[in-house]
Amino acid sequence: MAADRREFLKIAGLSALFGLGGKAAIDIFAPGELEASMEALPLTQGKRWAMVIDMRKCLEKQKSEKCEDCIIACHREHNVPELGNPKEEITWIWQESYEHVFPGQHNEFIEEGVKHKPFIVLCNHCENPPCCMVCPTKSTWKREAGIVMMDQTRCIGCRFCMAACPFGSRSFNWGDPRKAPKDLNPDFPTNREYPTRTKGVVEKCNFCAELLAKGKLPACVEVCDKIKVHALSFGDLDNPDSAVRKLLRERYSIRRKPELGTEPKVYYLI
Ligand code: SF4
Repeated sequence: MAADRREFLKIAGLSALFGLGGKAAIDIFAPGELEASMEALPLTQGKRWAMVIDMRKCLEKQKSEKCEDCIIACHREHNVPELGNPKEEITWIWQESYEHVFPGQHNEFIEEGVKHKPFIVLCNHCENPPCCMVCPTKSTWKREAGIVMMDQTRCIGCRFCMAACPFGSRSFNWGDPRKAPKDLNPDFPTNREYPTRTKGVVEKCNFCAELLAKGKLPACVEVCDKIKVHALSFGDLDNPDSAVRKLLRERYSIRRKPELGTEPKVYYLI
């Protein structure tokens, strides 16, 4: 199983208790599993969410056909429109070649099959996020569980965070008004009156915090499981029994630009 199911069972239990998207949380579990979640309470203290991307599985899938299902699922979930202009493009998760993703670990002898292949990239939800340190309005901050959040209602569009992020993980809304995607997801943002973002604000991946709160997996992980590729795993780094910890124990992993000390929480198995 790609995700740390036990952790999600715990969340589902709490969600049900507090009426927080209880039905949605229950829907993703097989009969009998929810009872296990009730035994597993309480949860949420001391978590550190992380993602592990198995590039062998991802590239294997891409041998036969182009796969962008994780990108489509993420952008649909978060109402990220296709603007059709690369200069104004908004991306929460996207693909780049190995040499761009891992410039410090690239050399001329890397296998051709890897060098130019598309690697998935997103916000790394860094342990030491420089983006948060420079934001003058605190519209981006690191939550207790390690997710680097972004509140567009407080963003003044100074773009200091974009300059500070060494991974290019943030996008800026140039359009006024920003076009809404055709099939708008009314559930995101859940606590805002407007369905999509305004001009002059920054946005980025939020590890699907709104879905985690309902006991659901991030949209990209869920769809990757659904199409049976199982390249994306999500779980708690602080739990030695979690799926992500197991993978990191068993396989060699790398992270983007480790020399900068931001401590990314997105790991790549290569
Ligand atoms: Fe901030 Fe960039 Fe790290 Fe994401 S990847 S937490 S935007 S510095």
